[in-house]
Amino acid sequence: MGKFMQWMRNELEGIKLADVKSPDQEVGDNEEVIGTLTDTDLQKLRVLSVRLDRQIETLTKEHAHKAIDMMGAEDGPDHNKETCEVCTMARNHAVLGDKKDAVNALFWTGLRHELPEEALMKLQKAGGTVGIRKDWKIVACHEGRRSLREALLAFGLPIPVSI
Ligand SMILES: [Zn+2]
Repeated sequence: MGKFMQWMRNELEGIKLADVKSPDQEVGDNEEVIGTLTDTDLQKLRVLSVRLDRQIETLTKEHAHKAIDMMGAEDGPDHNKETCEVCTMARNHAVLGDKKDAVNALFWTGLRHELPEEALMKLQKAGGTVGIRKDWKIVACHEGRRSLREALLAFGLPIPVSI
């Protein structure tokens, strides 16, 4: 735990306020704004989570390429898990995935913890799914509640200008 906490502290300290950007995604038709995330520590956690996502994406590609390059080597008599590049990548990959899951869990737990009782009730009513949108808006996603607009689109019906 010590090394992980140290790593996370270093990462969060390395994120400058100028790097703290809200998600681009707008509030959806079936989503209800229940608050705004203003805590910078949590905003930084979200930035870190997105960075880890990108690192994982890159590593996944590298890992796949390397695995193709070295196809068959893992079955050979000289295969050594300690020195093999693919095995080393697999180890790093697993740790990075764990870190991302942990940072993600911290973010969502922290976010829920910030919400006042009233917002938690709205969230419960909506079905319990919480999301984060543009300008750090916190939304409750209404499960199964399709807006009229979405329903019309789904059935290929014309959308009146009033909606
Ligand atoms: Zn290997």
